[in-house]
Amino acid sequence: MPLEPDASPCVIVVGAGAAGMAAAHHLVQAGVDVQILEASAVHGGRLRCHSDLVDFPLALGAEWLHADATALEEVFDRPVDVDLVGYGPDDRQLHFDGAAHEEPLEGGDLRFIRSSWLELFDRYVLPDIAEHVRFDTEVVGIEETGDRVLVTDSRGGTATADAVIVTVPVTVLRRRGISFTPDLDPERWKAIDKIAIWGGMKAFIGFGERFYPTFLTFPDSDTKAGQRLYFDAAHGHGSADHVLGLFAVGAPAEPYRGLDHDGLRDHILAELDRVFAGAASPRYRWHISQDWNTEAHIGQAYVADHAKWRRVRRLGEPASDRVLFAGDAYTDGHNWSEVHVAARSGRDAARWLLGWLPSA
Ligand SMILES: Cc1cc2nc3c(=O)[nH]c(=O)nc-3n(C[C@H](O)[C@H](O)[C@H](O)COP(=O)(O)OP(=O)(O)OC[C@H]3O[C@@H](n4cnc5c(N)ncnc54)[C@H](O)[C@@H]3O)c2cc1C
Repeated sequence: MPLEPDASPCVIVVGAGAAGMAAAHHLVQAGVDVQILEASAVHGGRLRCHSDLVDFPLALGAEWLHADATALEEVFDRPVDVDLVGYGPDDRQLHFDGAAHEEPLEGGDLRFIRSSWLELFDRYVLPDIAEHVRFDTEVVGIEETGDRVLVTDSRGGTATADAVIVTVPVTVLRRRGISFTPDLDPERWKAIDKIAIWGGMKAFIGFGERFYPTFLTFPDSDTKAGQRLYFDAAHGHGSADHVLGLFAVGAPAEPYRGLDHDGLRDHILAELDRVFAGAASPRYRWHISQDWNTEAHIGQAYVADHAKWRRVRRLGEPASDRVLFAGDAYTDGHNWSEVHVAARSGRDAARWLLGWLPSA
C-alpha cells in the first residue's frame, strides 16, 4: 500500500537499521509521533542474522563490538544484560602467505555470547518502536515545503512531517535513489559521489570437526584496498557446532562474489585445503553467505576505513533544520562504519530535533 497523504507524523525516519531504530526510539521515548519507513520487508539493515542453523546467531553483517562494553549502555540508553567475550592468550592467529605462520593475536574487539547486535535491538529497542515501522515502503522523494517536509514513496504515496531523518546507505544516495527538493548542495553530492565505499560479503561454513585457529589472515587481510579473514564463529559460545566465518570487504571480497552457492563452497574449500593440507573438504557440512552489494536497498558493505574524514563529516551535516542525515556514514568524522557509531548518530539527530521542534 502506498503512503497515505493524511498520515502526518511529527518526524519520519527513513530506514530501520541501527541508526533509524535508535533515532525513532529516542523520539518515541520523548513522546514524539514518529513513522519509520523501511524499503525492505525486515528491520535491522546490516545487522541481519541467521538464527536457525546452529545454536548461536550467525551475524551476516555486524558481528563485533568495536568499543568497550560501556558503549552498549550508550546505544541502548540503559544497562544491557549480555555476556561479552574478547580474545586471550589461548586464541591462535595463523597468517598464510604461501606458508603458515603463527602470529600474536591482537585486538580488543568483543563478541556477544549467544546474542547479536540484532538480538539486542530486538530486545531493547524494537518493542517501543515496532508499531511505528512501515515496511516495503521505499522513499524516493523528500521535498521541503515551507515548514513541512513531503515524503514520496516508490508507489506515488505521500506523507508529510515536521522533519525527516534519512538513514539510508550512501550507495542509495549515490545512485540517486532519493530526490531532494531543494537539491542537496554540490559539496554534499561531491562527498556522496567520491567517498570510498567498500562492497563486501560474509559466509559461514559448518564443519564436522575443528581444524582451524581463532583467526586466519592473508597478506591482503588489512590493506587500504580492503580486508578479509576467516574466524572461528563459535568462539565463546560454548557450542558443539564447528563454524568458520569468512569476512571480506573491498577488493579482497571480489573473488568470492559472483559465484553461485556451489562455486563459493568450492572456492572456499580449495583455499582452506591449501592452508590446512586438505583438512577442510572432508569435514565440510554446509555453508551460507551474504553478499551485501546485491541487497537492493543497501548495495554496499560500508564506507572504507581509510575514507577521508572530512567527507564523512560533510555527509553528517544536516541538509536543513528539517532534513537530517544519520547512520554509520553520517557522523562528525571521528568514527564511522560501526553499529554503535550509527546508533549514536541516530540518537544525536533525534536530540537535535527535540531541541527545537515545536511539536516535539
Ligand atoms: C559484512 C559487514 C560486517 C560488519 N561488521 C561489523 C562489526 O563487526 N561491528 C560493527 O560495529 N559494525 C559492523 N559492520 C557495520 C554495521 O553493520 C553498520 O555500520 C550498521 O549496521 C549501519 O547501520 P545504519 O542504520 O547506518 O544502516 P543500515 O543498516 O544499512 O540501515 C539502513 C536501512 O535503510 C533502508 N533503506 C535503504 N533505502 C531506503 C529507502 N529509499 N527508503 C526506505 N528505507 C531504505 C535499508 O533497507 C536499511 O534497512 C559491518 C557491516 C558489514 C556489511
